[in-house]
Amino acid sequence: MSSPDTPEPQNAPDSLSPEAIASIRDNLDEVAARAAAAAEASGRTSTDVQVLLATKTQPADKIRVALEHGFTLIGENKVQELVGKAEDLADLDHEAHLIGPLQKNKVNHTLRHAHCIQSVDNLELVTKINNRLEVLDSTVDIFVQVNTSREDSKSGIAPEEAEGLITELRGLSRMKLRGLMTIGLPGRTPEEIRPSYSDLRELREKLIASGVMPAEATELSMGMSNDFELAIAEGATMVRVGSSVFGARDYS
Ligand SMILES: *Cc1c(COP(=O)(O)O)cnc(C)c1O
Repeated sequence: MSSPDTPEPQNAPDSLSPEAIASIRDNLDEVAARAAAAAEASGRTSTDVQVLLATKTQPADKIRVALEHGFTLIGENKVQELVGKAEDLADLDHEAHLIGPLQKNKVNHTLRHAHCIQSVDNLELVTKINNRLEVLDSTVDIFVQVNTSREDSKSGIAPEEAEGLITELRGLSRMKLRGLMTIGLPGRTPEEIRPSYSDLRELREKLIASGVMPAEATELSMGMSNDFELAIAEGATMVRVGSSVFGARDYS
């Protein structure tokens, strides 16, 4: 045993209290139950909707609790966090997605640790990713991020430009397009949020029907803690949930 005045290392596996661990597990069960109920209410089954855990700012030991509880999908916003936690979680079976903006100079690091990039929204980035994949002789799953809310001009391609981007990237065989991703309007009423989700579903239908998007690229990544049931009602196949599992984020 260590002497009483030896400080605990910050990332000791037992750095979480039993109560904190129990709380994460309870929250996971609740989110899974709510997602399953929403899937059934929309005429689908619980397996039609995956829950990805948005883990930005969360330490690896909290994420570990979730992965040991049976969840397998995590999403990071920053490449630095994606890379930083990868080693800590390497012993656990999981898939890491990048769900935040990707700068071209971070493509290398991202491809080393991410199974999927959900934030693909411009041709320059697509080209850079593909060139790097050629060098690595590797492949990556992607979603095209569409700015259906038209709020934050910085992330997501405009809906009317999605067709052009997808046409270009289909020629690049190292990227497997799984579907479309969007970020809804945060903290608004269901009436205000709903169109950004229904628009993404309609865009998917249009692009598949016209042959622009491959028929198997059916996935829709949309919905967060505050609105994931609404997103599922509008056809989400993957919801990205953070604070309702891990609690409020600490940005300090
Ligand atoms: C943080 C984040 C989420 C999850 O948000 P919560 O409100 O904590 O559930 C989902 N998607 C993206 C892109 C995010 O950055």
